[in-house]
Amino acid sequence: MKEKSTRCVHAGTIKDAATKGVNTPIYTSTAYAYLDQPQQFYPRYFNVPNQQAVIEKLCVLEGSESGLVFSSGMAAITTTLLAHLQTGDHIVFQAGVYGGTHHFAVHELGRYGIEHSFTEGTTRADFESELRPNTKIIYVETPSNPLLSIVDLDMVAALARERNIMSVIDNTFASPINQNPLALGIDVVIHSGTKYLGGHSDICCGVVLASDDVIATVRHSSLSFGGSLNAEMCHLLERSLKTLELRVRRQNENALTIALALAKHDAIARVFYPGLESHTAHDIARRQMSDYGGVLSFELKDAAPTMFLNSLRLIQPAMSLGGIETTICQPAMTSHVKLTGDERLKLGITDGLMRLSVGIEDAQELAADIEQAIHNSQNTEGDNSESQRSKTARV
Ligand SMILES: *Cc1c(COP(=O)(O)O)cnc(C)c1O
Repeated sequence: MKEKSTRCVHAGTIKDAATKGVNTPIYTSTAYAYLDQPQQFYPRYFNVPNQQAVIEKLCVLEGSESGLVFSSGMAAITTTLLAHLQTGDHIVFQAGVYGGTHHFAVHELGRYGIEHSFTEGTTRADFESELRPNTKIIYVETPSNPLLSIVDLDMVAALARERNIMSVIDNTFASPINQNPLALGIDVVIHSGTKYLGGHSDICCGVVLASDDVIATVRHSSLSFGGSLNAEMCHLLERSLKTLELRVRRQNENALTIALALAKHDAIARVFYPGLESHTAHDIARRQMSDYGGVLSFELKDAAPTMFLNSLRLIQPAMSLGGIETTICQPAMTSHVKLTGDERLKLGITDGLMRLSVGIEDAQELAADIEQAIHNSQNTEGDNSESQRSKTARV
């Protein structure tokens, strides 16, 4: 089993011995007889069969020794970090990490006496200048939200190794299909399984994948923090992962098609997608990713953002991402609404910025929906036959 498509389908399955059914049965028990078996099974111990089956599949997909599946991405992130940080330690976060992670750093870590800082940018110098004698973790997210910035994982892994620091990546946007950071020397991979791994916008879960040693430390703390995932959700996640390669491959293709179409569009100021040669870190992305993922962002020039969103017919304005259905959101009004206008501009987030999570629908129909919504929301009083004509030419 070398190919990811095969691994997605077969890895980890616990065949049903009683009936020879082809799927892992759902083991709902929370109580297990203990007299005649050495291991104590219990859902919060992260060791019941459905947890083990799904984590085995994920380990095979990410190329990791070991892993744990949690009840949310944030449970995976916070448990991993708190398991490895002590009072007096310091952690460096890349600028622009996921909002929940940022909130955890700013509002929780200090209460445990743990210091943190954020980098200014994504170069080696940016990371080096934030390192302190007590730095224990470098935490990155690439591609990151919402501008799809890319961090060089070879660089991060080398820097962390030199200083004996643990490197952690939130690999949610890439999924294990497009990027395998452990092979590049990163120590710990985390996913919000709520996004691509679940893939149907109906499961909330998270995953940590790393060496046996690292996972033993996380497991020790996770027994106390208790963020385990129940059997039914593990089953849904296992089922979803069987089509992960198929879904993500289609999302990669669709996203590139739409990114190329938008990049040529005269009503769009800029397109952010690591698969475009115009992306500032396209070379790094090409080196460390096998494909570029289903998320892209673009900036409307003069179309009114709210009218644009209201004009979409197929694409749904919704938070979250990674589902088979295409969704869109306006970061200035959603993920980054709590920042001031100036803070947003400093990060490059304008009011016209749209983050698109591309699904598995037909790419031309998606592009046409964006096109008609742009047309509908542009300031086109009077004769708009010109833009009507170019509409058919463009998409
Ligand atoms: C959604 C998300 C998270 C948090 O995951 P939850 O499952 O919502 O807890 C973390 N990182 C990234 C990049 C995400 O998109």
